[in-house]
Amino acid sequence: MATFLQVLFWLALAVIVYTFFGYPLLVGLLARWRPNPVQQAAITPKVSVLVPAYDEAGVIAAKIENTLALDYPPDCLECAVVADGSTDGTEEIAAGYAPQGVRVLYQPLRQGKAAAINRAVPLLDSEVVVLTDANAMLNPGALQAIVPNFADPAVGGVAGEKRVLDGGEGLYWRYESYLKRCDSALTSVMGAAGELLAVRRDLYACAAPEPDSIIEDFVLSLRLVEAGWRVVYAPAAVALEAALPNLAGDWQRRTRIAAGGFQSMARLPGLLDPRRGLIAWQYLSHRVLRWAATPFLLPLVYLLNLLLLGHPLYQVLAAGQTLFYGTAALGYLQARRGTRSGLPYVAYYFCLTNAAALAGFWRYITRAQPVTWAKVR
Ligand code: GDP
Ligand code: MN
Repeated sequence: MATFLQVLFWLALAVIVYTFFGYPLLVGLLARWRPNPVQQAAITPKVSVLVPAYDEAGVIAAKIENTLALDYPPDCLECAVVADGSTDGTEEIAAGYAPQGVRVLYQPLRQGKAAAINRAVPLLDSEVVVLTDANAMLNPGALQAIVPNFADPAVGGVAGEKRVLDGGEGLYWRYESYLKRCDSALTSVMGAAGELLAVRRDLYACAAPEPDSIIEDFVLSLRLVEAGWRVVYAPAAVALEAALPNLAGDWQRRTRIAAGGFQSMARLPGLLDPRRGLIAWQYLSHRVLRWAATPFLLPLVYLLNLLLLGHPLYQVLAAGQTLFYGTAALGYLQARRGTRSGLPYVAYYFCLTNAAALAGFWRYITRAQPVTWAKVR
């Protein structure tokens, strides 16, 4: 019995260490040794910036102005807002920009973000569609950073960089950006963020997310990868969002995204096919293990450790784990008082992310996550 628990303990620990340290190390080395550069060129295809907007009266004018001010030839740039079911006059504010060429695609019934985008994309008139959230402001050079990647015929999508203003995500954010850079250099990013994601419009239909997708951005980008296209990372294209005002809102959003992760993974089994080579390995390591395995393994490793306290080695490890979770608890207390930095915050953030995955799993299996979610601002 004790040996069985020991084997389980070390296996689970090995998966955790591989996921958070081993994979980043390996993918970094591979990305250096055999990078797959994108054949960029200065091109100016017609681009549509498509903004899904539900009850965004507070930011939609700023978003449209931000879009119209992007550095790109105006005759090649179209701005469209897909609004549905809004109750705050979002579509009327957007319609006020018709003289500047802004298109408003409105319908009275709200059906969720994925359905809205699916409805809008076929109506656009462009080669490239840039999807971007209403509350995310782009840097003026965003399109200049994205578009040249489409000169490469293997590229089907381009993922921009999402940044949170004063989000306190510092270290975590650098770690994620590093992984995105390596994943992209090798094959493709393992999922793009809907704050800023560009796709070739003629590929959209084959990669369209199901209307009930909770994280449509992730599904869309990985469907492109599944279909054999590259989705590359353009870190110089930045979508800036304000931080969420409180921890409860943040939790709400994280568990929703985690529930969406389980929904998406269930729908993308083909990516794990070993014949896909590097892509299957990257998807397994960067997504499946991180989203579906480690959140369960972390508490398991702690419990197993407590059952194995007989040997000094296990006592040291248990002390280490207890210290880590204690530090996370301290980080939580500090975060509640607004301190979002330092080692305790990093530990707290890590635990929060994994706890949200467990809560999201629960939401997913109980079907408690609607596609028409309440906005958190
Ligand atoms: P988050 O960024 O993932 O927390 O999600 P948000 O609530 O900010 O939504 C992302 C974007 O999708 C925002 O621009 C929303 O206005 C938009 N959105 C969310 N739900 C709907 C919907 O049902 N219809 C439309 N058209 N847009 C939506
Ligand atoms: Mn948002």
